[in-house]
Amino acid sequence: MTQKDVRVRIAPSPTGDPHIGTAYIALFNYVFAKKHAGKFIIRIEDTDQTRYRAESEAMILDAIRWFGIQWDEGPDKGGEYGPYKQSARLPLYQQWTEELVKKGHAYYCFCTVDRLAELRKKQTESKLPPGYDRHCRNISLAEAQERAEKGEKHVVRFKVPTTGTTSFEDGIRGKVEFENSKLDDLVILKADKFPTYHLASVVDDHFMKISHVIRGEEWVSSTPKHVLLYQAFGWEAPHFTHLNLLRNPDKSKISKRKHPTSILYYKRKGILPEVLRNFLALMGWNPGNDQEIFSTDEMIEKFSWDRFSLGGPVFDIQKLLWMNGQYLKKKTDREWAQMLRNDVFNEDYLIQMIPLVKERVNAFEEFIDNTYFFFSGDLNYENSPIPPKGVVSKDAADWLVELLEKFEGLDQWTTEKIKGACEAYVAEKGIKTKDLYMTLRIVVSGSMVSPPLFETIQVLGKEMSRRRIRLASDYLKKKKDS
Ligand code: GLU
Repeated sequence: MTQKDVRVRIAPSPTGDPHIGTAYIALFNYVFAKKHAGKFIIRIEDTDQTRYRAESEAMILDAIRWFGIQWDEGPDKGGEYGPYKQSARLPLYQQWTEELVKKGHAYYCFCTVDRLAELRKKQTESKLPPGYDRHCRNISLAEAQERAEKGEKHVVRFKVPTTGTTSFEDGIRGKVEFENSKLDDLVILKADKFPTYHLASVVDDHFMKISHVIRGEEWVSSTPKHVLLYQAFGWEAPHFTHLNLLRNPDKSKISKRKHPTSILYYKRKGILPEVLRNFLALMGWNPGNDQEIFSTDEMIEKFSWDRFSLGGPVFDIQKLLWMNGQYLKKKTDREWAQMLRNDVFNEDYLIQMIPLVKERVNAFEEFIDNTYFFFSGDLNYENSPIPPKGVVSKDAADWLVELLEKFEGLDQWTTEKIKGACEAYVAEKGIKTKDLYMTLRIVVSGSMVSPPLFETIQVLGKEMSRRRIRLASDYLKKKKDS
């Protein structure tokens, strides 16, 4: 393969906020592409209709754009191998599924949901590993086609060999081998004729001429299935490299319970994109010495996988802040002033808060006093009146945790939706409106007097509001009421 042929991709699913793990994987793909004068592609994997969220796709692209890496082909840009969105490629998956069926590598499975549930129950009871028992594997093609034509509901499953092993050479892990007998006859086309992730990703990687698949370690166990699919199609598989997942300081997998995981939170916090790139680079890689501060261009220049370490990379916010400080110190006063104007006191942001305080500000000297919590980061609840009078700390902590869940599920961050979620929660719990609202008011503004509550939460933004709710609930859990 010549160096020109390097083509890599990230394939995010638009199911939520743009995740910091996506930025991490994107960075390594981008650097690898640039190192080899290749192409970096974004493909949107939106075939899971139950988890799809329309606004998420644009948010992911915006977040990667802010992060500062450019893609060569993608849903917004097009390219030679589009469309770059799986929902626009459905006929292709259906066509290649039929091809596998014809070749005897896949079969129609008519098992009902009830039968599969019953099977699972029996397996659990007899302590057997869960998995499909291949009930439909030997139905003749003629019979299967006849049943399908008569409208019998079915999925298509891949016929995984029952003996032997499947292996691949991982770019940083070396040879990874799986026993075929431990793999399930996986579904490749669902009853609604949508492909599963496995089929779609193999078909797309093939037709998009992806040379190297660089993705998170959670996909290692899927790769043998993909390798088998490539073999069944008679296609050459790409090279696979699986990067370790980011960890919390206690080594657990990074999760929103312990850390904000949205890229937008770090943007909102005022972390510079070049710092986030430097920091995420250091999570797995080093330039061959103990240098910690380096640019993405320097990384490209020195990049090789043998400097990638497989230890669980710890995402330490304190370290990120330290690094941001190092970069900021090097900026001139003028650059600071410009950045503050663009990122903190920018007109779009100010215009949102002005109507909330117009009534109470008589002169601009009062403006910051009335709005400081829109500009600050984490608030210190020790010195705040939380919980408000008449509310027990533990109850307030529980409300906040539960409300956070409700907020997570909102598809839009508007005043109406936030208000709706709070009203529904009050009704559901049978608690006093004023108790919840006062608690929330203190959580987001640090004080009992603030501009209108839901508007304030909306302007503060989803990331910062959720962060404060989480911090306040942690604080309240530990607080002893006197
Ligand atoms: N859609 C998968 C994800 O959300 C892509 C995994 C892969 O890169 O193959 O992570």
